[in-house]
Amino acid sequence: MFDVCIIGGGVAGLMLAHSLPDHYKVAILTKHDAMTNNTAFAQGGIAASLGAGDSPSAHAEDTMVATAQHADAERVELMVREGLETVELLLAQGLPYDADDRGFPELGQEGAHRFRRILHAGGDQTGKMLMRFLLEQVKDKAVQLPFHQALELIVEDGRCQGVLVGDAEGRRSTVHAAHIVLATGGIGQLYSQTSNSAIATGDGLSLAYHAGAVLEDLEFVQFHPTVLHLNGRSCGLVSEAVRGEGALLVNRHGKRIMEHVHPLLELAPRDIVARTIEWQYQQFGTVYLDARPIDDFPKKFPSIYLNCRKYGFDPTYELLPVRPGAHFHMGGIQTGDSGETSVPGLYALGETASTGVHGANRLASNSLLEGLAFAKRLADRLQQLPAFVRKRPFGKNSRTREFVLPENLPLNMTEKVGILRDKKELEKFLDAHPLRQFSLRDYSNSDIQDIHRYTASSLIATAAFLRDESRGGHYRMDAPETSAKWTGKVLQLSKHGVKIADRKIEQKETVG
Ligand SMILES: Cc1cc2nc3c(=O)[nH]c(=O)nc-3n(C[C@H](O)[C@H](O)[C@H](O)COP(=O)(O)OP(=O)(O)OC[C@H]3O[C@@H](n4cnc5c(N)ncnc54)[C@H](O)[C@@H]3O)c2cc1C
Repeated sequence: MFDVCIIGGGVAGLMLAHSLPDHYKVAILTKHDAMTNNTAFAQGGIAASLGAGDSPSAHAEDTMVATAQHADAERVELMVREGLETVELLLAQGLPYDADDRGFPELGQEGAHRFRRILHAGGDQTGKMLMRFLLEQVKDKAVQLPFHQALELIVEDGRCQGVLVGDAEGRRSTVHAAHIVLATGGIGQLYSQTSNSAIATGDGLSLAYHAGAVLEDLEFVQFHPTVLHLNGRSCGLVSEAVRGEGALLVNRHGKRIMEHVHPLLELAPRDIVARTIEWQYQQFGTVYLDARPIDDFPKKFPSIYLNCRKYGFDPTYELLPVRPGAHFHMGGIQTGDSGETSVPGLYALGETASTGVHGANRLASNSLLEGLAFAKRLADRLQQLPAFVRKRPFGKNSRTREFVLPENLPLNMTEKVGILRDKKELEKFLDAHPLRQFSLRDYSNSDIQDIHRYTASSLIATAAFLRDESRGGHYRMDAPETSAKWTGKVLQLSKHGVKIADRKIEQKETVG
């Protein structure tokens, strides 16, 4: 029996393990190896108001503006204030960073941030370096179980008490713990077009849904405008910074597609660029990024250059075919101030959680910060709670039932629940993929993986259908305006039904 079982070993899961006292018995499950996750993909860095003239209040203001009047103002304040303290603590503990001549962090600038506040390491290698640092911190503290997939959460007597786990050989076991934490990351791989790691299949959403937890803001998915697109496949992100350096978006006739769309052209807000590319793609075919005007591309963007070369493109003299891809999930499992879900004993952190800080549209580089800040909060909270002792043995499970994943689900997600949504198409999707509840333990391990994928897809489609307006990452062609009726309203789903809750979206005048 463990004190804490953490499902997921990205920034959120590892930071929690790192922040718990040494005497805690902690298990970390990852369904693949330790470095396969979205954290390791992070290129830009961690947003924190470390720079001269900057402050948590300025960071909170920028966040509120970006999130389309939908973020939880108090949670944003918690994140920017405590997140800054957590980043400072990690720097003092030896977190690597790129420094200027005087040894101070060399902070990067990103869209919609009014200050240079992006802490980065190894140029565009921040995520990998953060992962290596955190793995080193937890190596003697936690039992790490790679290639162990959480299949089902075990809820008895109204409390989450354990996890049914499948290993790489298909064997099953149960991990018991006083506290179970979902830190399973994002959902990008539910779509045929994505920037995400192979593990990002929304398992946390399905595990929580089947355990009876409340989920919210599921309709808000951020699409990155420029994912390299080859033969219908996503082949890695081409960062916004490439457009910042002068790359152009053109159609197959070489005509710039952002002309007459937005005065900032290629540097228009991310959602506008993404929608324009997708519309052009659907109407007229492939859209290209022309990076030839950039001097020294291989030197300025070494990782992106290498990735393009891997797929046979040389951006110094060739056009790059691009299409938007699912990038970040703003919504997730509804949590309290310290990661508590609506099911006692169950907590959620990182991208699978909905803390409310990203509203309808995430501000760039706030997600690593969110993972760090709320993991630290949860570690503090767990130490105040009594250890819970399991009273009854867990029930039996069989593998007698079969589930067949509907063909072309990721393609249908891209076409019907993607960047340009429409009521009729969402209806068709939900007719073919209705939200269902499964007795998970009665299916094989690989069928359960498919059920998680199916359930997470249906949950997102259901929320996208119900919210009949457009806001941030959720765009409905049949309701293209933002509606006052939905302002401050949060759509919550659980196996008990649908609820519309209120959210405090007003910001206080000053933040400490
Ligand atoms: C290309 C790219 C670039 C990005 N750049 C930035 C950036 O610069 N700054 C920023 O702030 N954010 C960035 N993001 C977003 C950010 O990286 C993620 O939101 C964040 O890392 C998520 O962390 P996490 O710990 O929640 O999940 P992850 O790091 O994805 O980890 C999830 C973990 O859960 C495990 N898991 C999943 N399902 C199961 C299961 N059923 N059983 C057991 N284990 C399971 C996985 O194995 C993995 O260990 C970027 C994302 C991408 C894709």
